[in-house]
Amino acid sequence: MQYISTKDKNLKVSFEEAVKRGLAPNRGLFMPETYVKMPEEFWANLFDMPLEEIGYQVGKQYVGDEIPDSDFKKLCSEVLNFDIPLVNVKDRIYSLELFHGPTCAFKDVGARFMARCLGYFSSRNNEKTVILVATSGDTGSAVANGFLGVDGVEVVILYPSGKVSEIQEKQLTTNGKNITALEVNGVFDDCQRLVKTAFEKFDTQGKFKLTSANSINIARLIPQSFYYYHAVAQLKTFDNVICVPSGNFGNITGGIFAWKSGLPVKHFVAATNINDTVPQYLASGKYTPKPSVQTISNAMDVGDPSNFERLDMIFGHNSENFGKTISSYSFTDEQTRNKMRSTFEQYGYLLDPHGAVGMLGLEKYLNGSNIAGIFLETAHPTKFLDTVKETVGVSPALPDALKACLNKQKVSVKIENDYNELKNFLQQRFL
Ligand SMILES: *Cc1c(COP(=O)(O)O)cnc(C)c1O
Repeated sequence: MQYISTKDKNLKVSFEEAVKRGLAPNRGLFMPETYVKMPEEFWANLFDMPLEEIGYQVGKQYVGDEIPDSDFKKLCSEVLNFDIPLVNVKDRIYSLELFHGPTCAFKDVGARFMARCLGYFSSRNNEKTVILVATSGDTGSAVANGFLGVDGVEVVILYPSGKVSEIQEKQLTTNGKNITALEVNGVFDDCQRLVKTAFEKFDTQGKFKLTSANSINIARLIPQSFYYYHAVAQLKTFDNVICVPSGNFGNITGGIFAWKSGLPVKHFVAATNINDTVPQYLASGKYTPKPSVQTISNAMDVGDPSNFERLDMIFGHNSENFGKTISSYSFTDEQTRNKMRSTFEQYGYLLDPHGAVGMLGLEKYLNGSNIAGIFLETAHPTKFLDTVKETVGVSPALPDALKACLNKQKVSVKIENDYNELKNFLQQRFL
């Protein structure tokens, strides 16, 4: 499989090159050149296929022979070593719980896959790699966890000071080893801009490879398609509606990859909080990025979703075409809280704020019809303990993975929202 760029269809690179570069020239994003339809036999066996086998078979279409089969099989079983159960919340409404990984958010899947792919290529080629990652909360900890202790790879996380939850901040700042947290005086979009600027301007003097681990890295997106097949396999019916709570639109892009490879999905819904750039785009046909606004579903506080460009390419730069496959709705914090409260009271199911937005989007689209629907529950409710406590009135027990970091001391390097400060840090640390 070759990878092309959203900005230049004539550029073609290998999987290895796309993973290591992260971003294509001129801020382009790498895309698979084609989508391989999964074979007949795959569909015939899907309902009985374990997640890691799905990962191996689907992933192979993207990785080709660049990672030998036996290594790739092992890689998939290491990445997908936790459950992603489909839970029935109420009549015909199912929650795909993506939070049973080490950092309790769906980004574990993509981050672990990418970390192992990069680790494989770095060790094979004896290279040093520095990963720069901007996070609105969960990306950074998933990436850090995926890379923790991996030889030859250093991770630098940029997060917006005061804009992530206490637990998220602990997860970002207590790793040590090869992980450094930069606390930026700004919002998420500032962090993202600093990272993009560094990729354009920073001179590594050939001493290391600078790469990205945001959802812009293609190796984050590919594995995010695996669990869409897995959800359908668990429900054992095709043609469902799937709703994805969306911020940078990487998660739903994974779903669209699965759909392009032949997974029958009736319709996708991208649910957002009040950062409604994509719902507005579908309503007006015009894409107008905006500054992000803070909400209780903070991992989705994105005003200029980085994967929009990929979806836009897939749908031929045509909003009507986009809207035929994906509907998008925006919800307020108040609606989100009401959903968390009523779902717990009526069905005993505890949603985190992101999952609540997902369930709102699903129900809005289904509008009482008798089609089955799946929403993606992207984080464990304890990751947003304060919001859950004040909204629903219960304090769920912390999973062990989260408990451990709460007692550790936060270590961060504070910088202003200024590229020169990032540049100085990178020079002093790595040159
Ligand atoms: C990152 C994140 C999202 C948004 O996913 P995108 O791929 O950025 O659309 C939703 N929920 C949680 C908990 C997240 O961490």
